[in-house]
Amino acid sequence: AKEPEIILYTEKLEVDFDGFKAIKNVNFRMRAGELRFLIGPNGAGKTTLLDVICGKVKPHKGKVIFKDHTDISKHQEHQIAQLGIGRKFQAPSIFVNLTVMENLLLSMKQKRGLYATLLVKTDNAQRERVFQYSEMIGLTSKAKEKAGSLSHGEKQWLEIGMLLMQEPELLLLDEPAAGMTDHETEKTGELLHKISDKQSIIVVEHDMEFVRQFAKTVTVMHEGTILREGTMAEIQNDDKVTEVYLGR
Ligand code: ADP
Repeated sequence: AKEPEIILYTEKLEVDFDGFKAIKNVNFRMRAGELRFLIGPNGAGKTTLLDVICGKVKPHKGKVIFKDHTDISKHQEHQIAQLGIGRKFQAPSIFVNLTVMENLLLSMKQKRGLYATLLVKTDNAQRERVFQYSEMIGLTSKAKEKAGSLSHGEKQWLEIGMLLMQEPELLLLDEPAAGMTDHETEKTGELLHKISDKQSIIVVEHDMEFVRQFAKTVTVMHEGTILREGTMAEIQNDDKVTEVYLGR
């Protein structure tokens, strides 16, 4: 079978915070439909790499190429979002006084430039999409409940659902299962796999148990560089990886 296209790559990427190099000459690459975990010790540069990809942080040097050879490294955050890269931050951004369904609808309409208006008529096709995504995130039975009444895990899924309503091709997630119960964590891992049938995902993750259970391919970062890349089996027995994790 033909390999899927490269959806994103960085070229000699460098991020400098007042003389401190958080990202050093990074050439990161992933194919469409990948579920890629980004791991590594604290301060490795994982979050910074996500920040660069979504446009929150501007690199000092290098390129970020998304899809059709577009260099997005100098684009504004909202332009990058429009191009199809969705970023979920750890702080929740749901509307607690709206229902699950209203939150999803709002996110869909926002994408179409109808920001903050639920008054715009919702057609059947839109309703159908909202239903599909509420199914996907496992919240159909709670569709009419206020988002504020959801559990921590459910709120996180709703946010992922809201991102999906904007039809991104690449999703950037920072510790999506943080603070969740074991059961919620399991469901989150399954959700990521479901999403990656259609979309590409990069997940920054510290919980190694979660990584072991759900990662297909892993990129290990260390001190602003890519140390190793491969399947979990390849990474797990790598001496260098063990070394940086044990801090020898
Ligand atoms: P990770 O996510 O792997 O833990 P980060 O990307 O958050 O690592 O940080 C990489 C390094 O860059 C750290 O040493 C951090 O202190 C530094 N850093 C991150 N953001 C900033 C910033 N805005 N200003 C200065 N230094 C920063």
